[in-house]
Amino acid sequence: MMVLSLFPGLGYIFLSWMHGISARAIIWYIGIVLVSIWGYRIYKQYLDNNLSSAQLKIWYKNLTLFYYAFFILWLVIFLLFITEKQYHLHYIAIFTEIGASVVASVLLVPDKKLFKPNVIMLMVPLAIYFLFIGEWFGYVLSIFSGILAWVLIYAAESSHKLLMQTNYLANHDSLTGLKNRYYFINYLQSMMPSLQDSKTWSYLLLIDLDHFKTINDSLGHDIGDRLLQKVSERIRKEKHANSLLARLGGDEFVVVGPEYGNRDECRIEAQALAERILLILKESYIVELHHLYISASIGVSLVNGKNNDASRLIKEADIAMYEAKENGRDGVIIFDDEMEKRVEYNLEIEQLLHFSLDKNEISLVYQPQIDGHGKVVGAEALVRWNNEKHGTIMPDTFIPIAEQTGSIIVLGHFIMETAFRTLSIWEQQGIAIQQFSINVSMRQFFYYDFVDDVRSLCKKYLTDDNRIKIVFEVTESIVAEDLDKIIRIMEEIRQLGIRFSMDDFGTGYSSLSYLKRLPIDEIKIDRSFVSELNKVENDQIMVSSILDMAKQFNLKVVAEGVETEDQFDFLKSRKCDIYQGFYFSKPLTDDEFRAFYKK
Ligand code: C2E
Ligand code: CA
Ligand code: CA
Repeated sequence: MMVLSLFPGLGYIFLSWMHGISARAIIWYIGIVLVSIWGYRIYKQYLDNNLSSAQLKIWYKNLTLFYYAFFILWLVIFLLFITEKQYHLHYIAIFTEIGASVVASVLLVPDKKLFKPNVIMLMVPLAIYFLFIGEWFGYVLSIFSGILAWVLIYAAESSHKLLMQTNYLANHDSLTGLKNRYYFINYLQSMMPSLQDSKTWSYLLLIDLDHFKTINDSLGHDIGDRLLQKVSERIRKEKHANSLLARLGGDEFVVVGPEYGNRDECRIEAQALAERILLILKESYIVELHHLYISASIGVSLVNGKNNDASRLIKEADIAMYEAKENGRDGVIIFDDEMEKRVEYNLEIEQLLHFSLDKNEISLVYQPQIDGHGKVVGAEALVRWNNEKHGTIMPDTFIPIAEQTGSIIVLGHFIMETAFRTLSIWEQQGIAIQQFSINVSMRQFFYYDFVDDVRSLCKKYLTDDNRIKIVFEVTESIVAEDLDKIIRIMEEIRQLGIRFSMDDFGTGYSSLSYLKRLPIDEIKIDRSFVSELNKVENDQIMVSSILDMAKQFNLKVVAEGVETEDQFDFLKSRKCDIYQGFYFSKPLTDDEFRAFYKK
């Protein structure tokens, strides 16, 4: 705009000087310079500052005024020249006015409130001027001016509509009509300065539907889509009017709240809203004659502009949401300091874990498995990590992290190799156990290379006699995956002679029907049942019925976590096959195990 006015403006001064009206033209030009300086400052203000939404409103008002001032100045030069006697100046004035109208209709397209009034403001005086010529061609030109104004406005309006459509598509989710991820991120980022300035708080709710995939897979995507629309409608009704609701994709929604004076108030409001949303989402849905039920898990992070980073906030809400999922779904978790500390600790563990193998910090211990006569018949390999900074870190801490980050693949390979090697050495030393158990993670199990990996390690370390001693312990969570795929992988591994055991039996979801289909040879009664045996009668019944059922299915049963003689006696009376626990021995190092075996 500055270039469009400052340089041609000099031409107007020259022309007016030729016709003896330079004084007025110079005053006009000073006006142009001043408005340009003002315009430049408005431009810089936007570039240099991250404006809050309130500041942005004021800024926009100034911008609007600037454009009006700018086009009014061009109207002024028109009036200046057109009222002069010399006809040359009239031609210039007419051209100026048409040119300015075209500029207004082209450049101001994004804003309807700007291009319409400006084009009218510029073209009407021109039409009136033609009218006042008082001759037939004047009337014709006047009508033409009107038509030109209409064409300019019509063209600008069409472009405007197209622009709005593109803008809408870029910012909205087409399925639900809610704002999309792109808009949400910008919104969150632009909210930060205002939260920071006013020291206020807001919240971010991350809503993820539970088991939505099941509906999609079983009833089809059309029904899934309709359900998502209904869900978004329910959340829209529940949220605060001043807040933003967006769909991030899939079955994930996000709500950004209004601003609150302090953290506690914000937290209470967020919690209340999240609980209301959980409730209304749980009410039944009717989609094409299907009655559907769905719940959601919600993670909340509280925002105060200090941690000036939208992606971090989303991550926090995400962590809280996963925590809600892990706590059994259908719940709300607010990201807090304690969780932050845990996340940081986990991050550190993750990094240290990365170097643990190279530093020789990982080793295995072996817990003896005993039969009813007190004879050592087997062992379970358990991993240990001895870190120089944190000392001994237990597998319950780092295995889940290794699973999440994928380092379980390398770690699991190392564990298996070490275990296989130990078993082959034991055999040479005359330690004749019947079975040797190794824990296998889900993630490791489904890794594309797993079967080949097991096969080549078998070849490298194990004789045929040894191979049939190996038992892979998997947990019940395995059945959450594609059952046919699990069975296929299990069968391939069984062909190597390796058997399977269902670890932590009774704590998960596995039903009898799964047990029947999975090619397993053994179950391990979880230690939580064993430890309660002497106290809780229910657990006695539970353990007895697991044992009865296992006999029906021809499965071997290992009781783990046997800590007392009473527990051992009870299990023995119910004909459990193998016993493992502190009553007999803690997990032992290689040397300790051999000594224990010989004794
Ligand atoms: P798990 O497979 O159920 O292993 C048994 C856990 O119970 C071991 O803890 C063992 O030390 C403990 N335990 C044994 N007897 C008793 C007892 O009488 N009383 C009590 N209170 N506890 C007993 P650990 O070694 O800390 O392992 C914890 C979990 O970490 C294991 O549970 C397993 O899920 C996982 N894990 C351990 N080693 C490996 C491994 O090499 N690979 C994989 N993927 N996971 C492993
Ligand atoms: Ca185990
Ligand atoms: Ca277990």
